[in-house]
Amino acid sequence: MAKKSLKARKSELSDTKRQLELLSTGVFETGTLPLFKEKLKQHQLSALQPHPLEVLQINMGYMCNQVCAHCHVDAGPDRKEYITKITMNACIKVMQSQAIQTVDLTGGAPEMHPDFRWFVEQIRSQTQVKEIIVRSNLTIILANKKYHDLPLFFAKHQVHVVSSLPFYKRNKTDRQRGSGVFDSSIKALEMLNTVGYGKPGTGLLLDLVYNPSGAFLPGDQAALEQDYKNALNTDFGLVFNQLFALTNLPISRFLDYLIASENYEEYMTNLVNAFNPTAAKNVMCTTTLSVSWDGYLYDCDFNQMLGLKVASKRNHISEFDAQVLQNREIQVSQHCYGCTAGSGSSCQGAIA
Ligand code: SF4
Ligand code: SF4
Repeated sequence: MAKKSLKARKSELSDTKRQLELLSTGVFETGTLPLFKEKLKQHQLSALQPHPLEVLQINMGYMCNQVCAHCHVDAGPDRKEYITKITMNACIKVMQSQAIQTVDLTGGAPEMHPDFRWFVEQIRSQTQVKEIIVRSNLTIILANKKYHDLPLFFAKHQVHVVSSLPFYKRNKTDRQRGSGVFDSSIKALEMLNTVGYGKPGTGLLLDLVYNPSGAFLPGDQAALEQDYKNALNTDFGLVFNQLFALTNLPISRFLDYLIASENYEEYMTNLVNAFNPTAAKNVMCTTTLSVSWDGYLYDCDFNQMLGLKVASKRNHISEFDAQVLQNREIQVSQHCYGCTAGSGSSCQGAIA
């Protein structure tokens, strides 16, 4: 497919169906890239199959106080979709019946959900789940007075906070996430540090997430973590636990950006060339299940954004069937190369 025609099709690519269609082919004008399934076979790897379920990742809705350029959820203040209490209760039932270790709350900004705190309290009081993660964009803590006490709430319920901070310098962060985001994020990190987050011996985990600002792969996670730690500590006296370096997957706003900037083919080629079989064996969809705001089940958050439900007739949390789900084949397409390039990428950073 020619770069020019891809750009011309950008306006048509606003819906997930067309994004899926584009991602289902490896054909470009200058050559053909192997399909992800073929690549697995080339490396004597079988199709992706689930291992026992460990992580339930729940999307609380698409509302967000930010509108970041590379958001794979297409979130923003104008989005109205959010999870109902009925669906949250169905999730709790699954947590009670399965050996789920971790519940990972995402959005949008999950804290904006009116029943966010209720849900965290219910998970803590009604289930044996060991870890609750909240994917916080940090700026929400300062966005409104009603969120200022979130650090205390997180600490009270031993919530593991994972926060995006695209870079440790103002200009790069603001370019990706909007003007003023860096300064607000620093203030929010100070508030989290004040209640003990990121500090040794408190048990309150604060991890940061880096993702590249353009069409390139992330650098070495350990080296980046050290750079972040040095810079944030020297400049602001801040501490945190780990840095997760994530690859931008070619979906949603980032796919639109790749097409508009005529980088799609080159980016896909780089991902394919960087295929790492070790990362492929450890992709997060083997141990995670993603629940959308309306209760449907997906192999991962990215498949959720592409509308690619689990390959099972029982694909809603209200009809959860562990055995049926265990025997499904994970749905893959060309975007999966984003999880297997270089050191690999997952919601917990590098995997290989
Ligand atoms: S803060 Fe996160 S969810 Fe909100 S727009 Fe930015 S990337 Fe998307
Ligand atoms: S995009 Fe999703 S389905 Fe594909 S490899 Fe990554 S986690 Fe698995």
